[in-house]
Amino acid sequence: KLYNQVQEAKGNIRVFCRCRPLSKGEVSAGCATVVDFSAAKDGELGLLASGSTKKIFKFDRVYTPKDDQGEVFVDASPMVISVLDGYNVCIFAYGQTGSGKTFTMEGTEKNRGVNYRTLEQLFRTAEERKETFTYNIFVSVLEVYNEQIRDLLATSPTSKKLEIRQASEGVHHVPGITEAKVENIKGVWDVLQAGSNARAVGSNNVNEHSSRSHCMLCIMVKAKNLINGECTKSKLWLVDLAGSERLAKTEAQGERLKEAQNINRSLSALGDVISSLATKSGHIPYRNSKLTHLLQDSLGGDSKTLMFLQISPSEQDVGETLSSLNFATRVR
Ligand code: ADP
Ligand code: MG
Repeated sequence: KLYNQVQEAKGNIRVFCRCRPLSKGEVSAGCATVVDFSAAKDGELGLLASGSTKKIFKFDRVYTPKDDQGEVFVDASPMVISVLDGYNVCIFAYGQTGSGKTFTMEGTEKNRGVNYRTLEQLFRTAEERKETFTYNIFVSVLEVYNEQIRDLLATSPTSKKLEIRQASEGVHHVPGITEAKVENIKGVWDVLQAGSNARAVGSNNVNEHSSRSHCMLCIMVKAKNLINGECTKSKLWLVDLAGSERLAKTEAQGERLKEAQNINRSLSALGDVISSLATKSGHIPYRNSKLTHLLQDSLGGDSKTLMFLQISPSEQDVGETLSSLNFATRVR
C-alpha cells in the first residue's frame, strides 16, 4: 500500500477535498467509482489508481458526494467570520472542469453555494454585533481571462484596460472597478447572478468560456468599532478557478493554446505562491500572474486561505483526479 500523504495543512492554509456524485450519464454508462471514502471522517481519501494500488491522501476535511452545501459551509464559516475581525481571507475552488467548482462556490438557486452563504453569514454576524460595530460591505465581481481583468458588474462596456495598483498603505486594488454596496441579504443573489451572467457576454459558448477563466468575487468590509472608534478594512476573495485539466494534443493550437498556457501559468503560479508560503521561503512570487497578484493581500501574512479541492469519482477522470490530488500535496 502506497502512503502518499498530503500533510495536514499548517498555519493559515486549509485544504478541504470535495467529491461530486457520479452524474446520471456516468451511472447509465456504468462508470465505476475510484474514490474510497471509508476514512473520510478522519480527513482521509483513497484513490484506486491503476491496478489494485490505493493511494491515500490526507486533508483538513473530506466531503463525500452525499455532503450537502450546508454541511460544507459549516466548516468554512469561521474563516468567513474572521473577515469581520479584520482578517483578509481567500477561499478558492480548484479542479478539472465538471468536478463541481461552480456548484461549490456559486451553487444553484435551490442549492446555494459558498458565495451566497458567505454574504448571508456576514450580514447575520454584523447584525449580532451592531451594538459594538458598524460594517459597510461592498462587492466586486471580476473575471481573469487570458491575463486580462474584466469587470463583471460594469453597467456600460468600457475599453479601458483594468490594472492592479498598489496604494501607499500597501493595499492592492483595481482602479475603476465597480464596487457595489450591499445593504442586506435581499438582492445579493441578483448581484451575484448579474456578475455570473455577464461572463457570457461576448463569448459563443458560456460553459467553455467559464471553464477557461477565473471568476472572482471580492467582498470588502469596512468596520468601525463604536467603542474605541477604530476603523479597519478587510477583504475576502471567493474564487472559482479555471479548469485545471490538461489540453488534449489535438487542441494544442491557436487561441486555444494561448488560453491553455495562460491557465497553466496562473494555476502553477498559485501553487508556487501557496507552497512558498507554506515552506516560509523568503520570496513569494505573487507577480507571476494576474490571479496571484490580485489575491496578494489575502494570501500570506496573517490572512487565511481555504482551498476546496474538487474531484470527480469516475474512473474516466482518474488521471485528472490524481493530478489535482498531487497539486494539493504541494500545499505544505
Ligand atoms: P465545474 O464548475 O468544476 O466545471 P460544475 O460545478 O459545473 O463543475 O459541476 C458539474 C456538474 O455536476 C453540474 O451539473 C453540477 O450541478 C453537478 N455537481 C457538482 N457537484 C455536485 C454536488 N456536490 N452535488 C450534486 N451535484 C453536483
Ligand atoms: Mg464551472
